[in-house]
Amino acid sequence: MKYLSTRDSSLEVDSARAIVEGISREGGLFVPSELPRLTREDLERLSGLSYPQRAQWVLSRFLTDWTGEELAGCVEGAYCGGRFEDDDPAPLSCLDEDICLLELWHGPTCAFKDVALQLLPRLMPAAAQKCGCREEIAILTATSGDTGKAALEGFRDVPGTRILVFYPEDGVSRMQKRQMTTQAGENVAVIGIRGNFDDAQSGVKAIFGDRALEEELRREGFVLSSANSINWGRLAPQIVYYISAYCDLLTAGRIGAGEPVNFCVPTGNFGNILAGYYAKGMGLPVKMLLCASNRNNVLTDFIRTGRYDRNRRFYATTSPSMDILISSNLERLLYLLTGRSDRETREKMEALGRTGVYQLDERELSALQREFYGACCDDAGAADTIRRVFERYSYLCDPHTAVAVNAWEQYRAATGDRTKTVILSTASPYKFADTVLEALGEDCPEDDFQRLRRLEEVSGMPAPAALRALRETEVRFRETCAPEEMRDRVRRFLSQG
Ligand SMILES: *Cc1c(COP(=O)(O)O)cnc(C)c1O
Repeated sequence: MKYLSTRDSSLEVDSARAIVEGISREGGLFVPSELPRLTREDLERLSGLSYPQRAQWVLSRFLTDWTGEELAGCVEGAYCGGRFEDDDPAPLSCLDEDICLLELWHGPTCAFKDVALQLLPRLMPAAAQKCGCREEIAILTATSGDTGKAALEGFRDVPGTRILVFYPEDGVSRMQKRQMTTQAGENVAVIGIRGNFDDAQSGVKAIFGDRALEEELRREGFVLSSANSINWGRLAPQIVYYISAYCDLLTAGRIGAGEPVNFCVPTGNFGNILAGYYAKGMGLPVKMLLCASNRNNVLTDFIRTGRYDRNRRFYATTSPSMDILISSNLERLLYLLTGRSDRETREKMEALGRTGVYQLDERELSALQREFYGACCDDAGAADTIRRVFERYSYLCDPHTAVAVNAWEQYRAATGDRTKTVILSTASPYKFADTVLEALGEDCPEDDFQRLRRLEEVSGMPAPAALRALRETEVRFRETCAPEEMRDRVRRFLSQG
C-alpha cells in the first residue's frame, strides 16, 4: 500500500517513509492510497484473538512494506511487556445495555495517547532503517498536555532518537506539567511556550516547513520527525482499538454479527475520531461517529454548518487536551470528503492559513453529516456529567470523557437513536483530580498528591501508580520560551551532547 500527500497526490511513498517523515514536504499529510477490507469473517476471527494479535493483523494491512516478524516485534514490545495494566491497552467497561466506555488510559502516562505512542517509537527506528536513513531522528512535538508525556515516555532512551516537547506553559493541568517536567531519559527535553497550544503547534509546523533549517540539521546528522497525530504511525495503531472494541462487544454477546454501533469521541486534533472513520471505511459496522467538543467548539460548528472558522476566542477549559482551534487531522477527512482531491484540499488549507476560514460545498457537507454528528458542552456541563455518571453508575470519568458522555446524551435526545454506543474514555480521572473532586462537590486539597488520596477515598478506586510515583520525582525541566524562539531552542537542543 502506498501513502499519498493530501496536497499533492503525485507524491507517493511507502509506509516506512511516511512514518519517518511525519509530514509531507509541501505541508500535506500522508494518507493511504486505499483502505484495506475488513469482512464479517475477519471480525469473527479477530474476536477470538488477543489485543496484540488483533493489532498485528490490522497493522499488517496498512504497513504492507513490513515483514510479519518486524511488526510482531514492535507490537509485542508495545503491548505485551507489562506497560499496560493486565497487558490490555483497550478494555471495555459497560455501564448499561446501551453504553460502554473504552478505557484507553491504562498505559504508563494514563491517557489514550499511550496506545499509539508505545508503538510509534518502536516503528520509527525500524522505519528509518528500511528507508536507508542514517541520520539521528529528532522528534519535535507540540502538546496540549497528554501527547508530550506519552511521546517522552515512548521515546525515552530509544537508540537513534531524541525528543523535544513544547507545551503551552499555562495551558496544561498541574499533573500534566509535573509528568512532563520530571521526565527521565538521556535523549529528552521539555520547554514551556508562552502561548497556547495552537501557537506551539504552528511553531512546530513552521519548523517542519523550513527547508533551510532542514538542510542545516541534515549536515549535523539529524532528520526531523513528529510524534503528533499528523504522523501516520500515530493513526494506524488507533484504528486497532475501534475494531478491537467491536470484537469485544461481539464476544460478550452484546451485539450480533454485523450490528452497527456508534462511537463517541472527545476530540481535539481530530486524530482519534479519524481513526474510527478509517475503521468504518474498512468495513467496521459503524453507524455514526459522534464528535464531542468542549467550549472550543469549532468542530461542532463545522459539522453543523460546513464552515470551519478558527477566528474565535480561545478558551482554557478543564479538558485541556481538547483546547484546540486548528484540528490538523481534519485535513485527512477533507481529502476524503472532496473525493480525494489534492487540489481542493490544498485550496482549503491555504484558505485556512490565509483567512482562518474554509467552507464545504453542499455535497461535501451532506457527506460529512452522514458520518459525523457534532455536539459540545462547557466546563459546567462536563462537571455536571462527572457528578451524574458517578451518582448513577459509581463510575468516575475524567473531564474529557465527560464531555463525550454529555455529547452522547445530547445526540440521543436530539435523534432518539438507540444504537449501542462506545464512548472513548481518553484519560484517567486521576490525571485531573482537581476538576473531578470539584465536580463531585468535594473539597480539593492544595497538594497534588493529597488530591489523589482524596479521590481514592471518594471513589474506592486506587490512583495509577505512575501518578503516585511522581511525588518522589524531581523536576528536571524549567525552561520557557516565546513562540518565535522555538527554532533556536531546537538548534540548541540538537547541538548538545
Ligand atoms: C489528545 C486527547 C484528546 C483529543 O484527541 P485528538 O486525537 O487530538 O482528537 C482527548 N482526550 C484526551 C485525554 C487527550 O489526551
